[in-house]
Amino acid sequence: MTPEIKPVVAGNWKMNGSSNSQSMVRELVAGYDQKLQGQVDMAIFPPSILLAQTASWLSGSKISCGAQDCHANQSGAHTGDIAADMIVDAGGTMVLVGHSERRVDHNESNDEVAAKARAAWQSGLTAFICIGELEAERRSGKTLDVLAEQLAGSVPDGATAANAVIAYEPVWAIGTGLVPEASDVEEAHAFIRKQLVERFGNAGATMRILYGGSVKPGNAGELMAINNVDGALVGGASLKAEDFLGICEAYRNMT
Ligand code: PEP
Repeated sequence: MTPEIKPVVAGNWKMNGSSNSQSMVRELVAGYDQKLQGQVDMAIFPPSILLAQTASWLSGSKISCGAQDCHANQSGAHTGDIAADMIVDAGGTMVLVGHSERRVDHNESNDEVAAKARAAWQSGLTAFICIGELEAERRSGKTLDVLAEQLAGSVPDGATAANAVIAYEPVWAIGTGLVPEASDVEEAHAFIRKQLVERFGNAGATMRILYGGSVKPGNAGELMAINNVDGALVGGASLKAEDFLGICEAYRNMT
């Protein structure tokens, strides 16, 4: 944790969910609004086709929502894509950019990720900018080089604690049940913090840095206790209200 930073637990539903997800969202709202909102922020990222519905289910709640990606342009001939303004129109306040599944599946470069973050800012959205090394890069000792390159290339000038959240997600830990050693998470987060402070000064000191990769209720407390871990980006465990609330509970118990 960073003592002066309120943590955020963010759920990436990926390509999961349906109009039947309303009951799960209701459970989240009941669990979160009653006892967690003071200590931990919560955000959910459903598939974009469910975003407007999700925003309406969350109406009156303190839980925020957003999309899993946006295009760098605000309109035009981009079949299948969505613009940042459309996310706002649907009731979202944030967007994930540069998730490793997009970097890998859609070949997204750092430049494209930065352009998406800028588009998000133009629309007033907070960009959750994802970075993280591949397994081969970790094995060959290149983790910090990769993180430096992704931070420099994917985080645009003008990042602040309000418009940007950095999510460190070792690609090999996503959806695998594998989690790095606490000392490795600490090293990566300290490195990211240093880079952010060098580039953005006080904004970099207060920007939230999330850990993502197989976070579960059982390991969330240990991860949260690590310096500069200011929350979690959660995939699989965000699909069950009990698990997602369990992760938030672990964070609340630390504050
Ligand atoms: C993710 O999708 O960003 C993620 C971290 O997934 P999981 O929690 O399932 O590893």
